[in-house]
Formats: sequence, C-alpha cells, structure tokens
Amino acid sequence: MSENVVTMEKIVNLCKRRGFVFQSSEIYGGLNSCWDYGPLGIELKRNVKDAWWRDTVVSRPDVVGLDASILMHPRVWEASGHLSNFTDPMVDCKLCKARFRADHIQDSVCPQKPSKRPGECDGELTEARNFNLMFRTNMGPVEETGSEVYLRPETAQGIFVNFVNVVNSARMRPPFGIAQMGKSFRNEITPGNFLFRTREFEQMELEYFVKPGDDDDWYEYWRKRRMAWYTDYGIKPDNLRLREHASDELAHYAKGCVDVEYNFPIGWQELEGVANRTDFDLKSHMDTSGKDLRFFDDGSKERYVPYVIEPSAGADRSTLAFLVDAYDEDGPEDDRRVVLRLHPALAPVKVAVLPLMRKGGLPEKATELVETLRPHMATAYDQAGSIGRRYRRQDEIGTPFGITIDYQTLDDDTVTLRERDSMEQTRVAVKDLLPQLTQRIAPPVCDIPLGPNRHQN
Ligand code: ATP
Repeated sequence: MSENVVTMEKIVNLCKRRGFVFQSSEIYGGLNSCWDYGPLGIELKRNVKDAWWRDTVVSRPDVVGLDASILMHPRVWEASGHLSNFTDPMVDCKLCKARFRADHIQDSVCPQKPSKRPGECDGELTEARNFNLMFRTNMGPVEETGSEVYLRPETAQGIFVNFVNVVNSARMRPPFGIAQMGKSFRNEITPGNFLFRTREFEQMELEYFVKPGDDDDWYEYWRKRRMAWYTDYGIKPDNLRLREHASDELAHYAKGCVDVEYNFPIGWQELEGVANRTDFDLKSHMDTSGKDLRFFDDGSKERYVPYVIEPSAGADRSTLAFLVDAYDEDGPEDDRRVVLRLHPALAPVKVAVLPLMRKGGLPEKATELVETLRPHMATAYDQAGSIGRRYRRQDEIGTPFGITIDYQTLDDDTVTLRERDSMEQTRVAVKDLLPQLTQRIAPPVCDIPLGPNRHQN
C-alpha cells in the first residue's frame, strides 16, 4: 500500500495532534462515538456551515432561515412517523451480548474475535427486532409518562411545523425554501468511523416548497446544485457520485431520492440525501394537528399543499469529507510534508505571518502586519523554529498563505508571500497584501442558476 493513501487513522491522528477533534471526555476514558471539536476543528466546521448557509440562504432570494428548538411537542414525532417507524433492525449476540445492526452485519466484527463477523464466531445471533433510534428524556422535574419528550432526530420537522409562520411573516410563496442547521440526535446501534456516524451530530437541511407539478424540475435542480457545492469548495469530482435509490429502498411517501456519496477511506458512503418528499410531511401535520397548512395563492385563488424537495446534509460528515479530500503527503522521501489542501474559504487559518529572525525589529514589523490583517481574516503569528518548519506546521493545518518578514521588508516594505499548494514564493508590497489576500480567500460563487432552466429567461 502506498504511503500516500489516506486512511481514517491518519486523519484521526492529525485531528488530535493539531487540535481539530478530540475524543469526548477523554480524561474519563472517552465516551463512545462522541467527539469534541478543538480550536482548529471548530473554525473548519464553522466555515463549512457558513459555506452551506451562504450558498443555500444568503445568496438566494427564495430561501429564508430558521432555528427551531431541539425539544418539540411529542406529537410532532407521531405525525412525522418517527415514533412508529424510525427504527433500525437490531440483533444481539447471545454469547457476548453485543448488539449489531442486522443490515450492517457484513461490515461488523465480533468484539471477541475481530477476525470474524458476528454470528460467524461462537456466538449465535437473536432474531432481528426493531430498535427506535430516538433519544427519550423527561421535561420538568417529575418523571412521568406525560412528561416524555425526545431529542430531535432531524432538524426538518422544526421547519414543517413553522411553515405557516414563515409564509405569513416573511411573505414567502412557492417556490421557496426554509433552511435550518443544528444538532440532531440518534441512538445509533453501531456508531463509528470517527465523525462519520455519531449519536449527536449536526445537520444542514433545506425544505424547498414547490407547487405540485413543478417538483420533478426542482428535484433535478437541487441534485445538481448540491453536487456543485461540494466541488466548488474543493472536493475532487472523482470522489463524489450520485446514487439513485432503488424503488424498494424509497420511503413510501417519497417520489424520488438520491444519495450524494463520497469516497471515504471506508468506501463510498452517503454524504447527503436529496429527496422529493411530496406533500407527505405537511399533510401528516395537518392530519395530526388539525391545522390548515395549505398555501393560498392570491393570484390564482388556489389553495394547495406544496410538495417538498429536501436536500439534507450532515455538517460533521461534510467536515470529515473536506478533511479527507484535502489530505495529501508530498515531497521527496527525506523531506515529506503533510498538507491539507483545503479551499481557502474553508481553511481555519487563512494566513500566517512569520518573522525570519527573532530580532532586528522583524517581530515588531510582523506583529504590526498581524494587527492589520486580523480584523479581516484568521491570522496566525509564529516565530518559533526554522522558517521551513514553520511553513510545514501551517501546511499541515491547511493555511493557504504564509508571509515572511525579512530585513528587506524593513527597507522597502515588501514581504515574501508563499502559497501552500505550489510552495511558490513571490515578493509583494505590504500595501497590496490585504486586497490580494481578501480576493484569494473569497468563497466561490456557484455558477448554477437560482432555479431550473425553464424558470430562467
Ligand atoms: P445513514 O444511512 O448513513 O444512517 P440516513 O439516510 O439515515 O443516513 P438522513 O436521515 O438522510 O441520513 O440524514 C441526512 C444527513 O445527516 C446524512 O446524509 C448525514 O450526512 C447526516 N447524518 C445522519 N445520521 C448521522 C449520524 N449518525 N452521524 C453523523 N451524521 C449523520
């Protein structure tokens, strides 16, 4: 196996070493599948979420945002079907009592004999039974049946129950969308693979409401637009694909569903789902709540329940994909470097300012520059060690630009600007740095229009 292969182990090690992600509650032995984002990880994940919000909400006139509470009325989960159907098939090993997802046995190992699959060891597996993935808790000081609430297993339902509020207050009319990101919780039977499958995670979901009949076009549109988001932010197109759900895989209410899959070190896996959910959700909430959630079109005087196209992505899974895709090792055997080739808009630190020497007025000049840049972009200062080592440290965390302050800087107010990917160095006037860097770290603008072609003139 070539040294250059990206493994989950290399990513986990880098994340821990450089402060992207730590194991939760590590000093107590850790809590299975829970992770804490460290100083660099939180910046990267925030940049991923900002990138999604910018592309999905801020840059569009037809989408507004929402931040609904995590705890919702228990009847929400009755209407959505989660109480009765949000289950995974589970089997137990009669010998070691370990539990597995019946549909993931092929990818699971026996905890006692890791070379064997569950059921192929000495243990016998029970019949599969359904396990509800929702976390249950109690609201208020008394634990009684009526006080049971659930930690939301998806953010989408907060959007559906606010549909009328948003239509009326923000004066939106189909086609339009409501976007939300936030924590969701699922008591996964077999979490694992680092950030890929956890029990607490963040979702980035858009519910896009359209007139029935326009849904096929918008479904096509959002598949394309979401694929473009990942590649615009640097994911290699070869590592991304769309997988259409087979008809027996489709939820009963869905007219179409496609997974955006990424080629993780563990193989091709879902990164995001895009579904045509028809009018199922709004209708279910109408039936359960008794409230009229139809849209009234002033122009045509029609009243109808919109269809919904839902692109539903994971912030943690996307962050992992961006990390994996950016990870690279290059250079000759005796001088290898680890480099994260993150898109500059996603990089946790945009520029590092490095005085060549720790004397001769260079640190002072460098600090002055840091103070000019810092209000505009995440700027690091590093004066420890050789300049080569300092560049390497920045390469490893994905900092796209390095600025070296040397004695010539004191004479003519120019610096060396080094680019992470090409390692090319150019001499730039200090006065040109801010405009040049601002332009080079700017987020990409999607070249896919705001709607399906037939809506464009
Ligand atoms: P999977 O098949 O991997 O369990 P799903 O089809 O149940 O995922 P959705 O309900 O479509 O997932 O959720 C939308 C997105 O939320 C997923 O594409 C993924 O990015 C993210 N997500 C879902 N479950 C988890 C989890 N346990 N950990 C991290 N992210 C998750």
